[in-house]
Amino acid sequence: MGFAVRAKVDHRSTPGLASGGVTFDVQNEGYPQFSPRCESALMTGLPSVRRVTAAKSEERSMSTRIRRKRSVDPAVALREPGRWSMACAAGVAWCALVLGSVDVAISLERGENDVLVRVVDTGPGLCCVVVMPGDHYMIYDAGYFQGLGERHCMDSVQELVPDDATIDLMVLSHSDADHLGVADEILDAYTVKRVLHLGYERSTRTWEDADRAIKLEKEREGCVDINLRYFEYPPGATYRFGDVFVTMVAGFHTPPAEWGPLNTSESRNAGSIVVRLYYKQRSVLFAGDTVGRHIGNPPDKCIAAEKFMVDNREVIPIDSDVLIAPHHGADNGSATCFIQAVSPQFVIFSAGHDYEHPRAAAAQRYLTNGVQLQNMFRTDLGDDEGGDEWSHGRVAGQVDPPADDDVDILLSEAGDVAVAYRTSP
Ligand SMILES: [Zn+2]
Repeated sequence: MGFAVRAKVDHRSTPGLASGGVTFDVQNEGYPQFSPRCESALMTGLPSVRRVTAAKSEERSMSTRIRRKRSVDPAVALREPGRWSMACAAGVAWCALVLGSVDVAISLERGENDVLVRVVDTGPGLCCVVVMPGDHYMIYDAGYFQGLGERHCMDSVQELVPDDATIDLMVLSHSDADHLGVADEILDAYTVKRVLHLGYERSTRTWEDADRAIKLEKEREGCVDINLRYFEYPPGATYRFGDVFVTMVAGFHTPPAEWGPLNTSESRNAGSIVVRLYYKQRSVLFAGDTVGRHIGNPPDKCIAAEKFMVDNREVIPIDSDVLIAPHHGADNGSATCFIQAVSPQFVIFSAGHDYEHPRAAAAQRYLTNGVQLQNMFRTDLGDDEGGDEWSHGRVAGQVDPPADDDVDILLSEAGDVAVAYRTSP
């Protein structure tokens, strides 16, 4: 596979991107060199910006295949009767959209060469488990910090990642406890090859446990600790796991000064590590708790991390089939500029019974910008907090518990994408 591509990147005009010439010594960090003969994993610095572009070129050159997709994906099987059901393949008409009435549940079954992303219903937090072909695994955030939501994150990791497996990459988007719940348990239970995190210190027990576990994993297992407090780690850096590419789109220990004044909460969230997973012309964007607007701004206002990503999208693509929405669907993310640049077909809100997430105003921006209602998922389905919470699917008076609304994303070997609420096996 050749990656000799031309990419004109003017880093001088790209605030926040590292200046040219930075290359990580992948050998010293325990990564294999990127070469056609060595496809198990890749990490590199700015040269990978070119490789991101390479992936995009590949995307373009193969785009005709997407249009010739067969109309039924055998990786998707109808299973037991259930409640809500929604599943779609992009651009084809096999969608079974049953919304409002609740009849057929669709369960996505992963073939060995498919990518499965499970957005775990951890309550008001985020926990994503990614299973890739060739026994590669990624964790993006480690769940809520207490109760059933915390346990369900760990249970889901153990369900999808075999005991003796190695986790290739753990990304901890930022340092808030609703994203770190079982980070320490995962690091204790598995060999984790590398952890990418902000290193933004907090005084919470959850953060301290995660920090201690990362250091221990580094000492005992040689885990590569990519702490953005110490690494100048350029957005665009890409890992490769077989045919899966995972690119860091954004991520800063502290938000760059040029993003302007941010309040305390915005500052903690805006540096969130955002990654884009790409496989067979399909992509999923994991947006952490990134920030794109001040609450109360007009809908077309675009600031901070989301503006950064939009401004740099020609260098580091963010257009994606599936978006795990910023900040649980809070109104200080999902700015119109970002939604339009990502142009997702599917949107998932990882929310619970707290903070009135997802917010109606944020959900409405997706609808206004072309996302179909039946392609919007929430891990607090049925929840009723009233106030500014999005009312779609609300059951009056219901306090939605964790663990009952996992959402599965399947990227098939054939290049199809499907999203569905998970049904019990
Ligand atoms: Zn959060």
